[in-house]
Amino acid sequence: MTALHFGRVLLGFVLVFVAITQKCLGRKLHIGLFLDEDDLDNQTKSIALQSAMYRIKLVSQYRIEPHYYYLKSTDYFKTEEKACKLLKQGVAAIFGPESPELNDVIQSISTALEIPHFQTLWNPKSGPPTEKFGQIFNMFPSANTLAQAVATLIRESDWKTYTIVYEDETGLIRLQEALTKREPLDPIISYRKLGPGPDHRSILKEIKNSGESQIILDCKIDNIINILKQAKEVNLLEEYHSYILTNLDAHTLNWKEFENIRTNITAIRLIDPNSSGIKDVIRDWHLTEENQQYTKYEIGAESVRVKTALLFDAINLFINSFAAMEEIGEKLPVKQLSCNRYDIASHGNDLSAFIHRECSNNLTENPMLDLKMCRNINVTNNIFAIPSYPRKERLPGPLSGLLQFDEYGQRNYYQLQIIELVNSGFRVTSTWNPDVPDKLYETVTTEEREKEYEKQLTQKNFRVVSRLGAPYLIRVPKPPGKLLRGNDRFEGYAVDLMHKICGYLNCSFTFEVVEDGSYGNYNPEKKEWNGLIRQLLDRKADLAVCDLTITYERRKAVDFTMPFMTLGISILYAKTVKEPQELLSFTNPLSLDVWLYMATAYIVMSMLIFLVARLNPNDWENPHPCDPCPQELENIWDIKNCCWLTLGSIMNQGCDIMPKGISTRMVAGMWWFFSLIMTACYTANLAAFLTMERMGPTIESAEDLAGQTKIKYGCLSGGATYSFFRDSNFSTYHRMFVQMESADPSVFEKDNKDGVKRVLTSNRKYAFLMESSSIEYEMERNCDLIQVGGLLDSKGYGIAMPTNAQYRKQINEAILKMQESGTLTQLKDKWWKEMHGGGQCKEDKHSSEATATELGLDHVGGVFVVLIGGVFVALSIAVCEFLWNVRKIAVDGQMTLKDAFDSELKFAMDIWARKKASKPTSQTVSLEKLSNKIK
Ligand code: GLU
Repeated sequence: MTALHFGRVLLGFVLVFVAITQKCLGRKLHIGLFLDEDDLDNQTKSIALQSAMYRIKLVSQYRIEPHYYYLKSTDYFKTEEKACKLLKQGVAAIFGPESPELNDVIQSISTALEIPHFQTLWNPKSGPPTEKFGQIFNMFPSANTLAQAVATLIRESDWKTYTIVYEDETGLIRLQEALTKREPLDPIISYRKLGPGPDHRSILKEIKNSGESQIILDCKIDNIINILKQAKEVNLLEEYHSYILTNLDAHTLNWKEFENIRTNITAIRLIDPNSSGIKDVIRDWHLTEENQQYTKYEIGAESVRVKTALLFDAINLFINSFAAMEEIGEKLPVKQLSCNRYDIASHGNDLSAFIHRECSNNLTENPMLDLKMCRNINVTNNIFAIPSYPRKERLPGPLSGLLQFDEYGQRNYYQLQIIELVNSGFRVTSTWNPDVPDKLYETVTTEEREKEYEKQLTQKNFRVVSRLGAPYLIRVPKPPGKLLRGNDRFEGYAVDLMHKICGYLNCSFTFEVVEDGSYGNYNPEKKEWNGLIRQLLDRKADLAVCDLTITYERRKAVDFTMPFMTLGISILYAKTVKEPQELLSFTNPLSLDVWLYMATAYIVMSMLIFLVARLNPNDWENPHPCDPCPQELENIWDIKNCCWLTLGSIMNQGCDIMPKGISTRMVAGMWWFFSLIMTACYTANLAAFLTMERMGPTIESAEDLAGQTKIKYGCLSGGATYSFFRDSNFSTYHRMFVQMESADPSVFEKDNKDGVKRVLTSNRKYAFLMESSSIEYEMERNCDLIQVGGLLDSKGYGIAMPTNAQYRKQINEAILKMQESGTLTQLKDKWWKEMHGGGQCKEDKHSSEATATELGLDHVGGVFVVLIGGVFVALSIAVCEFLWNVRKIAVDGQMTLKDAFDSELKFAMDIWARKKASKPTSQTVSLEKLSNKIK
């Protein structure tokens, strides 16, 4: 055997020996681990890594030789230097680093030298980060899909307006999807950048003062608790506040001190600590290589952070694929390289291509289906459950769920859990995955949620704010010697309504009165609300209950329940004044002037007829018609007859004597014409005057009001009615608002009560625009008031509450039930028609109807009075005439006044006597007396 042969045989032995020892000890693979020096989670990370290496050694033919480099994010040169040193060892794969800046250094080296590079950082760089099917695999969910998840969560949470609190500009990239999907007309959202800290109270206070209740917090995991603690201090962590935390590790923090907060805190997580797979893996992390005993350092499943889990998954992915390739006969020699020499790794390309193929979208077509390297751990088949696990079985599947990469090595499939803080732990409410990016899959059903709310409501005491105003909230008069407290101080529709609602929901409430007495008006200059709405925004009350109108502007600031009462704006006005009927109301059809002119005309015309008749020869007549040549002529038209003729004609009665001359007839004719017209006018007017009430200025609609200036009109200042007219585009209402604004003195009132008072006292010179329900209430109590015209609009009163109050649905349901059962109508009847003097004006309605159809004595009484008066005057004249005649007879017949009186009276009383002596004397009187005695 030559030396050459011997040499060859020896070399063969050496190679066989090396091969055998390598096989026994396992093949050594160098990997580089670039970690963040400042990461507080490094201890967990190193346990996870050690455990992974140990397990690899245990179940495979490989021995991992890790090279750890703990670096600061500014250590560029050190990073490059370490990487070059590593290459010389012959590195199989590089993991990390976690800072984006250092990652760029490592990524450029591994890309150039074709070394598989597993990244665990959020990489938002737009555009393809590497060439297609290269060596880069980023285990972290790709930035754009993660942004979609956040956008979907915000949308599904039904957040219209919110404030984004962020630490650096990368936070806005995480939210870019949510921000770009907004419509131009969507409500404004605000941005607040946190300062260097640690004190962020001033910013949080500003948010609190802005009234914002929905906050998206994007910050580093280590700052979350500190920021929320400060938010608690400035009262930004109250019942109605809601937070979305974008950090995927939020659930790993200690939330013990937020156990009792009532704020809604929602977060997102990639790692599900409750999966039994992760629990098993974590149990294994506690076993060390040396003694196979559990370490003292306890790691809970809920404290495993994303980057730790991703690093663990990355190592497993690498070794699984490496082993799988070698098993199918693919040789993967790992070469020693140098930064200065142009040479590339011989295993990189094949290994990367293998991972791309195995962990791509179409997993079902994958030939290596028994590999768990891209899939979730199958619990029943878990290698860590049995320490002497057979070699053939593979290492565990990923902790972060299914691994799937796009052609650029970006992770494009994973599953996120949407979690909610309950006491000091989190519960999963829904899940999300990039396959259906616009949808959240709910895990807590709506029914379950509602049951929870219902349970919470039974422990809730609502702080109800309201304003005094009948019949909604009335202060109960204090009984002597007794102090009223709490809800006993008040009564009214609102109090009863709350009693009924809490009857359904099993809750309790406490009423308080708003200090400024306003409903809720926005001041655009000060950018603040007043009244009830302000109380809700300041979270000083849970509910606002009274005649609070649901308006668009208010709805933007607070939430409303469905309306419990519907109404519209109408006009409150005073009824026509019912003046007591005058005795001489029959004179009303003509004015006093006309009566005086008529009386004058009567006298003048009577005189004129008298004069004209004297002048007219035809009215001088023969007193003895049988005498053809009378000595003298006679004129019948003395003053008495003239007055009789004119009176007879104006009374429509005519006269038995008539003028004969043309001129007298002409004058009489003209008087008759005058009488005809005047009588007709009087008759026509008399009917109207006797049947109708005296009318003042009349209005029948808002148009009538707008088209006149005599009646002033106004409304409550700063309420929904005021806003309706102020903001109306309809020309009539706008004109009305301009008129109201320019009126002096002001036509606006501070309270409906004042408006009603003004209507009643202004003698129909003021109308008040008021909501119909309040008009109804007033009309039930004051019969002098009427509603004029219909409703100008249609709206409702609702119960207001801070936005996103969880109990809105339950209160809505209670209102709906009350509506259907008629409870709301009963309540309204009680407070409108029964309590505090309601139902007073029912009788009046009937009596006013009666007066419209028939005339009472008060209308025509005057006519009777005139008749009686005239009769008395006529009797007086008759008595005078009688006495005058008695005197004349006594003188002419030379007898005593008494005898003359007795004889005349006796004769007058003898109603059967038809004849009378023309001139009675004393003898006839004595004879008469004697005959009476004989009888
Ligand atoms: N209900 C109205 C409001 O909520 C107040 C009354 C009114 O404006 O007529 O503002």
